[in-house]
Amino acid sequence: MCIFCKIANKEITAEFLYEDDLVVAFRDIHPMAPVHVLVIPKKHIESVADLTDEDEKLAGGLILAAKKIAENLNISKKGYKLLFRVGEHGGQEVKHIHLHLIGGARLREDIGPAN
Ligand code: AMP
Ligand code: ZN
Repeated sequence: MCIFCKIANKEITAEFLYEDDLVVAFRDIHPMAPVHVLVIPKKHIESVADLTDEDEKLAGGLILAAKKIAENLNISKKGYKLLFRVGEHGGQEVKHIHLHLIGGARLREDIGPAN
């Protein structure tokens, strides 16, 4: 079982900031900003590239959960970033879909080729 499945199944302890029937959210262990939360589906899906039409509700649920968490953490008015890394070029390290919710400060824009 992958590490995020273990977190979703409560085999590894994490403080959930949000949970519903499809998704859970918890703080990133290496935060890139004052707020850095990961929103994941309870179902194991490797990446956005593996979503199917049947996952429409789940995919929307990730974004709506992030929106609600941002409101709860009071970063909604100032804004934030939502990020899905996908595969090798996207820099995805954990092979279980996760939506990064990053905010609490004005963020750098440094997306571009690595070399
Ligand atoms: P990515 O590079 O998009 O695959 O992001 C994986 C993220 O998961 C990184 O930001 C890690 O800091 C985070 N991470 C890895 N293991 C854990 C964990 N056990 N609890 C919380 N966050 C984690
Ligand atoms: Zn998993």
